[in-house]
Amino acid sequence: MSTANVAGSDVFPNRAKEILTHLEETGQIKHLQMIEGPMDATVRLRDAGEVVCLCSNNYLGLANHPEVKQAGIDAIEKYGAGTASVRFICGTFTPHETLEKRIATFYGMEAAYTFTSCWNANEAIFPTLCEPEDMIISDELNHASIIDAIRLTTTIKKGIQKGVYKHNDLADLREKLRTAREEKNVTGAIWVVTDGVFSMEGDIADLPKMREICDEFGALLVVDDSHGTGVMGETGRGTHEYYHMAGDEIDFITGTLGKALGGGAGGYVVGRREGIDLMIQRGRPTLFSNALPATVAASADKAIEILMNEPQRMQKLRDNVAYARKGIKEVGFDVLESPTAICPIIVHDTARAIAMSKKLLEMGVFVIGFGYPVVPEGEARLRVQISAAHEPAHLDQLFDALKKLKASA
Ligand SMILES: *Cc1c(COP(=O)(O)O)cnc(C)c1O
Repeated sequence: MSTANVAGSDVFPNRAKEILTHLEETGQIKHLQMIEGPMDATVRLRDAGEVVCLCSNNYLGLANHPEVKQAGIDAIEKYGAGTASVRFICGTFTPHETLEKRIATFYGMEAAYTFTSCWNANEAIFPTLCEPEDMIISDELNHASIIDAIRLTTTIKKGIQKGVYKHNDLADLREKLRTAREEKNVTGAIWVVTDGVFSMEGDIADLPKMREICDEFGALLVVDDSHGTGVMGETGRGTHEYYHMAGDEIDFITGTLGKALGGGAGGYVVGRREGIDLMIQRGRPTLFSNALPATVAASADKAIEILMNEPQRMQKLRDNVAYARKGIKEVGFDVLESPTAICPIIVHDTARAIAMSKKLLEMGVFVIGFGYPVVPEGEARLRVQISAAHEPAHLDQLFDALKKLKASA
């Protein structure tokens, strides 16, 4: 049946084509790279062949670890593909319980609950735990999943207030908390939320000072440590451990199983028992959406076990990060300083960042260039991400390629 003559029937296809054409013409269109083998220090790309991978969040090199893979294979043999159910009906397998206990133990916190992504975890915690007399206060550079979770929360529960403080500006955070209590008369809970490690800058939140300020105003502290878990702290517990804080000094931590912890997929909330219990009862992503597949839960559990048993992986990552930062500077590029595995090389211009990343790929080095609107105008960058899977020779390849780029510029 043709609807070509019905008024309005061509609005969507025309608009979509217009947007795509605009993206194409302004050099902003993204082309998906096809990967033809496992994620590791090097990956095989369909178009570029075998290249050094410096753009994955596979920080501990566990994505292709034989035991992580075997755990998934064993779980699919034992449990099949899935439960065909949400958790509270008939969707909870033993590997879910095992993984959640493991996560709580890993952080030294009361309880954990898993989701199919950290995006889902963030969309579970705030809408479920916040009530209309509450306020949520968020860092302006927080991850998109936190921003959207807050928008969802304030939309479905009218009366919840929100505030945004300048990036890592604790005086501004304190002022937002003071006005909340003294001027806006917020009588409910106040939730302060921050990324542990910020993904585009590679910088970190000052959690000890944030804890102090939160305590002064009776606020809860929630940290999304997706880029910090398995990277930060002596034993990889995350950004709080970097500051020598115990896990339970943070009220709730959200995180992903799709980065350092195996790289499959999945997310979690870990923290105070009553919060986890409420999410099991009332969280919409838990009540209306399937669980993590048992295969993925088993692989993630194994990844965390390996991290806990092999702290030398953390040392390898730290050594690689130090080596990479030094080498990048030696060939004449500026890299933003931080203790994380994210090394942004600022090149300012978006088109230049994209052109550089293309040339690097031709030289066998896979690094992504980020420009506006992912980062502010004029601050385009190459984001180099380091893994414990890299050997010095892989990083030498990066330095060589950067040197050639410099010479040809
Ligand atoms: C990557 C990331 C997420 C998303 O994690 P998924 O499990 O892939 O949904 C959420 N928050 C932060 C801070 C992240 O860096």
